[in-house]
Amino acid sequence: MKIELKEITMKFEDVTAVDSLNVTINEGELVSLLGPSGCGKSTTLFMLAGLYKPTAGQMFFGEKLINKIEPENREIGMVFQNYALYPHMSVLKNIMFPLKMAKVPKKEAEERALAMAKLVHIDHLADRKPGQLSGGQQQRVAIARALVKKPKLLLLDEPLSNLDARLRLEMREEIRRIQQEVGITTVFVTHDQEEAMSISDKVLLMKDGKYQQYSPPQYMYDHPENEFVAKFMGSPPINVIPVTLNQSEKTISISGTENTILCPDNLNFNKVSGNQLTLGVRPEDFMIVDPSETNQFISVTVDVVERIGRDTLLNAMVGEKHIRALVEPDVKVKKGDTLHLAIRNERFHLFNNDTQENIIEIKS
Ligand code: ADP
Ligand code: MG
Repeated sequence: MKIELKEITMKFEDVTAVDSLNVTINEGELVSLLGPSGCGKSTTLFMLAGLYKPTAGQMFFGEKLINKIEPENREIGMVFQNYALYPHMSVLKNIMFPLKMAKVPKKEAEERALAMAKLVHIDHLADRKPGQLSGGQQQRVAIARALVKKPKLLLLDEPLSNLDARLRLEMREEIRRIQQEVGITTVFVTHDQEEAMSISDKVLLMKDGKYQQYSPPQYMYDHPENEFVAKFMGSPPINVIPVTLNQSEKTISISGTENTILCPDNLNFNKVSGNQLTLGVRPEDFMIVDPSETNQFISVTVDVVERIGRDTLLNAMVGEKHIRALVEPDVKVKKGDTLHLAIRNERFHLFNNDTQENIIEIKS
C-alpha cells in the first residue's frame, strides 16, 4: 500500500514533535525513520498507526484520507521494542491471538498462524511459552503476530534495540527477508544509522521533528544535503574542516595550514553566503599523495596510527583540528610524520556555515 504524508504536524502543548513532514512511501518499500532520540520518529509511527491524530496535515493510505480512521480499521501490523507477548500463551496461541479477536474459525486461525510461524522460522517452537525463547525468537513471534492478519502496512518501532549486538545483526537481515517475502510496505524506526543503511530502500532522516533528507541510504551517504546528514551517516564519522573560500579563484584554503586547493566545478555559488565554509571529507575518501606530483593536498601531522585489519586508521592534526583518515593497511607512518592527503574525486562536500547546506551540486 502506498503511503503519503502531506504537511503532517504533531504538537504536544509546547512541543512540536513532528513539523510539516512530507513523505511518499511506495508500495512494497521498506523505509526507515532515522534520527537522534526525541526527533519525532515514534510520534510519526504512532500517527501512521492511528494512536496519535495529527494536529495538522493529511495522511493517505492509497487514495484514502485516513486522518480520522481508528487504528483497528487501518490494516496495520505493529511491533515494538518490547515484544509484549502474552506469557501464559504458547507461541502458536500468541500468533493466533489477533485472528481469535477477529473471530476467524479456529482451524483456519491455526493454519494461518502456523504458516506465519514457518515464515519467521519458529514453527519448531510453536508449543513453547515466550519465557522459554531467546530475545530474537520472541521478536520473531511478535513479527509473526503482526503479520498474521495480512496487514497492508507493517510498523516497527526500534524492534531490535533490546537484542545483543550479534542477534541484532541476524534479526535485521531476517526482518528484511521476511518483509521481501511478504512484499509488505514497512516503516522501520531506528536511531542506528548502520541499521537503517543496511535494510532500507529509503531512509527518512529527521532532526527536531523536521525533515532532513529522504533518499536511498547509499545516496544519502554519498550526497548528504546538509552538514547534519553528513555527520549522522557513517562511522567513523565524516571529518569537518574549516576553510576559507576564494570565490574569484575558485579555491579553498584550509584553516591552520598553508594549503589551498581547487573547488570542484560543481560548486553552486548561488548557495554561498560567506567566505567561511566547512569542508566535509569521509575518512575513506582521503588518499596519501606525493607532494612532488600534485599541489592538491592537505598537510596533516600524524598523531595516532591504528592498525584495524583491513585498513589503517590515522588520527592526524590539520592545524588545530583532529581528523581521521582510512588508508591502506601497509602504509608506513608514525606519530609526528607529515602526510599529504588528497580528496578522492567527487567525494567533496562543502557546507555553508549559515545554512548548513551542502553547496556541491550533484552531477546527474
Ligand atoms: P523519537 O521516537 O524520535 O525518540 P518521539 O517521537 O518519541 O521521538 O518524541 C518526539 C518529541 O515529542 C520529544 O520531544 C518528546 O519528548 C515529545 N513527545 C513524544 N510523545 C509525547 C507525548 N505523549 N506528550 C508530550 N510530548 C511528547
Ligand atoms: Mg522512539
